[in-house]
Amino acid sequence: TKYVYRFGGGISEGGSGDKNLLGGKGANLAEMASIGLPVPPGFTISTEMCTRYYEEGETFPDSLRQEVADGVAHIEKITGKTFGDPSDPLLVSVRSGARVSMPGMMDTVLNLGLNDETVEGLAKKADDERFAWDSYRRFIQMYCDVVLGLDHGRFEEALEIAKEDRGYNLDTEMTAKDWRALVDEYKELVKEMWEKPFPQDVNDQLWTAIGAVFGSWNAERAKVYRRLNDIPGDWGTAVNVQAMVFGNMGETSATGVAFTRDPSTGEKGYYGEFLINAQGEDVVAGIRTPQYLTKAARAKAGAKPLSMEEAMPATYAELAEVFAKLENHYRDMQDIEFTVEREHLWMLQTRTGKRTAKAALKIAIDMAGEGLISQDEAVLRVDPAALDQLLHPTLDPEAHRDVLTKGLPASPGAASGKVVFDADTAEKAAANGEAVILVRIETSPEDIHGMHAAKGILTARGGMTSHAAVVARGMGRPCVSGAGTLSIKAKEGVMRVGSREVKEGDIITIDGATGEVMVGAVPTVQPELAGDFGTLMEWADKGRRLKVRTNAETPTDCQTARDFGAEGIGLCRTEHMFFDAGRITAVRQMILAEDEAERRAALDKLLPEQRGDFTQIFEVMAGLPCTIRLLDPPLHEFLPHEDGEFSEVAKATGVDVETLKRRAGELHEFNPMLGHRGCRLGVTYPEIYEMQARAIFEAACDVADKSGEAPIPEVMIPLVATKKELDLMKAVVVAAAKAVFEERGRTIDYLVGTMIELPRAALMAGKIAETAEFFSFGTNDLTQTALGVSRDDAGRFLSTYVEKGIYPRDPFVSLDVEGVGELIEIAAERGRATRPDIKLGICGEHGGDPASIAFCEKTGLNYVSASPYRVPIARLAAAQAAL
Ligand code: ADP
Ligand code: MG
Ligand code: MG
Repeated sequence: TKYVYRFGGGISEGGSGDKNLLGGKGANLAEMASIGLPVPPGFTISTEMCTRYYEEGETFPDSLRQEVADGVAHIEKITGKTFGDPSDPLLVSVRSGARVSMPGMMDTVLNLGLNDETVEGLAKKADDERFAWDSYRRFIQMYCDVVLGLDHGRFEEALEIAKEDRGYNLDTEMTAKDWRALVDEYKELVKEMWEKPFPQDVNDQLWTAIGAVFGSWNAERAKVYRRLNDIPGDWGTAVNVQAMVFGNMGETSATGVAFTRDPSTGEKGYYGEFLINAQGEDVVAGIRTPQYLTKAARAKAGAKPLSMEEAMPATYAELAEVFAKLENHYRDMQDIEFTVEREHLWMLQTRTGKRTAKAALKIAIDMAGEGLISQDEAVLRVDPAALDQLLHPTLDPEAHRDVLTKGLPASPGAASGKVVFDADTAEKAAANGEAVILVRIETSPEDIHGMHAAKGILTARGGMTSHAAVVARGMGRPCVSGAGTLSIKAKEGVMRVGSREVKEGDIITIDGATGEVMVGAVPTVQPELAGDFGTLMEWADKGRRLKVRTNAETPTDCQTARDFGAEGIGLCRTEHMFFDAGRITAVRQMILAEDEAERRAALDKLLPEQRGDFTQIFEVMAGLPCTIRLLDPPLHEFLPHEDGEFSEVAKATGVDVETLKRRAGELHEFNPMLGHRGCRLGVTYPEIYEMQARAIFEAACDVADKSGEAPIPEVMIPLVATKKELDLMKAVVVAAAKAVFEERGRTIDYLVGTMIELPRAALMAGKIAETAEFFSFGTNDLTQTALGVSRDDAGRFLSTYVEKGIYPRDPFVSLDVEGVGELIEIAAERGRATRPDIKLGICGEHGGDPASIAFCEKTGLNYVSASPYRVPIARLAAAQAAL
């Protein structure tokens, strides 16, 4: 097998289609080289080698030695330099690169090929000693960190002390002599910590670096990142070996990162940051505050240091041309790394840029408008899950804001929470259900779990492309970065701005759209749903087949869902109405009743209340189908617990407390979720379902009489396992309907159907469909009953199951398509065979999960149902599934 693929100098043994083999970085380097962009030559060792490396006990096959030697020769030929040559050495970078970008998660070594001899040659050849020794100290530090695993803090400390001794503020003030001295110190440190001198053999350097990059695939932080982002562990990383170009050769050199459009707002315009006389990660690591790319951005921010457009106009113009070319070529917003070496521009990376939901929307709509992509492509471009960010509240512009300080608007959205200063504390607090804001001087990949747990992120250092900003945007967390006036004393548990102090645990609010940081919680308002959002939804609806309904049981939720485009109710859980303070006593009276007469007395009190609930809902949903599930949960959920509650029921019923307590004790169940619940309640106490059915039909008649438009009730019987259960319950509902229609002198169209949430019901669907006019797949319970996993207890072991790959994702979040999915397919098929026009829908939490929606489209269901805020997500996902 071939493992090494070359690029540069007119050769490209791959392209952007080869991400699986070459990793994203390698594939795009080859692609950029092939369209004539200035890419330093190099080669990529494929991800297949990574897999083999791990299979063979972290060793390389002999054949790779020759391939890599040929790859190095390719670079030497194009650059005219020789690897290890003391008079004119070739230096390379050894870069990781997985299929999908894992920003900052894996390792890279720059300036490889330097040793005590070659550094002198580099200095002479470049006629710049400062540059050569700066490069060498960088190399030693990176190599020791990445390859030898030595504590990088010691190196940083030595540099800080060196600067302090000389009275410098910035690294750039260090002279050639200073760097030389520091390199000596570094080498001493290596001897002390590693007990061997720093490796001088350049080939040895290269091979150990390649091994380390493959090794970084299994670093702890990379594993965490993969888990959070659903990236399989067996993909592996590629390794890119590439000729170095130098942004640290003085004032005519620079390094930078850029986006072809604003990744935060989606505004059209080049957007980025750069640093003169700097290298590699300097921009993102927040070593110095970076400079803006364009004059306009600098002016807007009121920043002093010149933009690249002003400081290096000719090179900037060249860069702008490259941006345009890349966007046209990839037909998407690009995230770019570049370096300027003595006015010469080099491209080091391009990839599809991560963006906020807001930017994703704007960019998709704008690009369709520009004719770069079609409307359907625009619909496919926006990640439905990311819409969540847009649908949630933003800070109320009218509310009072006690502004503490202002940083950069790094990732939009607003969040309030308690201040915490480290990732572990953030994770613990979040696990206890607390909202926290993670406050750090700057974040690093080690903070990922804390950033994920936090509601928002605030940093004192770093720009718009800093680690915190990039990761926060990817996660959809609001972020304010580079709040420079903030002084964080994590050890003391405080942060200060001037004389103001905020302690760990105090509540603050951050606004990622403006960069403001406020003391206390600031109230929020509902988002604006017109504009780009409305346009995209319109385009999505054109391509959508599945209907989208909502799970809702209050008029407010119903209205929210309708505003979000819901086309009916897929699940109205009537028991939620039973908990209301005003009626719980009557509910308890019904449950604790000794006989039917007592029970009916309680139900008579509940009837007008239920009718009132349904009337309000039907008013919002007039003309639309409304699936209403009759009482489902185990009765004990409603039981009184405290003495006070018992005596209230006693007062209402005239039965003494002791008797009530005895009755409550009798209702105890060992396994309530498989106990006396669902239609089993209706079978034993038909009068409960009778009351509910009557309330539904009376309310429907009321609304139809008043507004002229009737809802279409779909009365749903839960937890059916057999046709006979449904026959009995349907008879109760039909009788109630008939009685109400006679009393009211009118009729209403309605259906009676069942939830399919037991495996037996799925298998018996053909028979059940003789009675059922619709099926709604209750995938929460169906998952629970099919897997034999209790939803309420699964937390303890399910994450281990997912980690070990037993289930690819939490089956309560994303449908177990293989198993539970087959039950749904069987039920759909058998149901349709009996009743070809049977209506099929899904009402579990899965109805709002894009992957599960794709399955529903494939199975040909009629609709999905999701909670109100997930309705737009479902609309978009349904369109994407159909397109
Ligand atoms: P990451 O995936 O973490 O961004 P990269 O491999 O892209 O890591 O490299 C880290 C930094 O080093 C980037 O800023 C990149 O532009 C820079 N860099 C990588 N290779 C070279 C090179 N051959 N010449 C100059 N700079 C490089
Ligand atoms: Mg990079
Ligand atoms: Mg259920």
